[in-house]
Amino acid sequence: MTYRVTLIPGDGTGPELVTATRRVLEATGVEFDWDVQDAGAGVMDTYGTPLPDSVLDSIRANKVALKGPITTPIGTGFRSVNVAIRKVLDLYANVRPARSLPGMSLCHENVDLVVVRENTEGLYAGIEHDVIPDVAAESIRIITRPGSERVVRFAFDYARANGRRLVTAVHKANILKATDGLYLRVAREVAADYPDIEFNDRIVDNMCMQLVQRPHEYDVLVCPNLFGDIVSDLCSGLVGGLGVAPGANIGTELAVFEPVHGSAPKYTGMNKVNPTANILSGALMLRHLDELEAAVQVERAVAQVIAEGRSVTYDLKPTRDDPSAVGTQEMADAIIAAMSLR
Ligand code: NAD
Repeated sequence: MTYRVTLIPGDGTGPELVTATRRVLEATGVEFDWDVQDAGAGVMDTYGTPLPDSVLDSIRANKVALKGPITTPIGTGFRSVNVAIRKVLDLYANVRPARSLPGMSLCHENVDLVVVRENTEGLYAGIEHDVIPDVAAESIRIITRPGSERVVRFAFDYARANGRRLVTAVHKANILKATDGLYLRVAREVAADYPDIEFNDRIVDNMCMQLVQRPHEYDVLVCPNLFGDIVSDLCSGLVGGLGVAPGANIGTELAVFEPVHGSAPKYTGMNKVNPTANILSGALMLRHLDELEAAVQVERAVAQVIAEGRSVTYDLKPTRDDPSAVGTQEMADAIIAAMSLR
């Protein structure tokens, strides 16, 4: 069977990471018919928008997409293409696993966390405006019962399907009594439907401190949008950094797979950054397509290359200027070689 998949190279370091990922996925023997779609600042002149309808139509038609990061101008300019894809396609659950691999120099060994981030509401609803220009601005944080219920339910279903023991709801309900108060109430109600999975909750600031000190006490974390974004970067830091953190945006019918990290623009075209996060996002896609054997093949090869520590990018070396660090494509080559040895 050949899978038709929307492939969005993105910008910054995205295209080189997506090339590396594509090569690894094709080396599994699974066949893909890539429907390549461009988005971001580079298509503005041609389409008058960074997110042409053709990109969304392609994902709707193919049901699954693999994506590189896309740059968002900071403070001014167009709104995030990444957020728009998730919101327009109603990809309400952003799944971000953070698992440590042997061979890395980490503060904690055997960290195994999954952040499930609500992906369509909260502060990312993007409802903000100047009240008095340059003096006061306002942003509206939307939390709804249906939005909260479906993502918490997703987290519990994910926990059940993946043999996880505990779901922790992360919130700031002590201060944000209306919004996070509702979110926490709904989380507690949903938890009652899953007596086989433990449930607790943590205030987000305390959660961050506890994750740094005692990550093994946690398992699946379900978070409103902004907290999920921040907590998942923290979790990436626990397991080796953004270079190794994959992600999946899941809706009822559609799914878009992309790394947690952004476009790391200062490294564009340098064949320098770590392809692992994008490649492991591809492995999550293989799982989604029920290509479990291929997914495991990729994940094992990545783990082997990292454990050997030889053919890895600068971020996985003991020092950032280690001359033995390899480039993006050379790390992908090593992963492909490790796959073929099995
Ligand atoms: P970033 O994730 O791009 O980079 C932050 C730092 O993390 C980099 O300087 C680098 O040190 C490290 N890093 C990131 N990816 C790495 C990799 N593959 N290998 C090794 N190290 C890596 O975050 P940023 O600098 O805050 O954002 C840059 C741009 O990316 C912004 O425009 C932002 O809006 C965008 N962004 C896009 C997405 C997405 O496409 N989903 C996600 C986050 C940020």
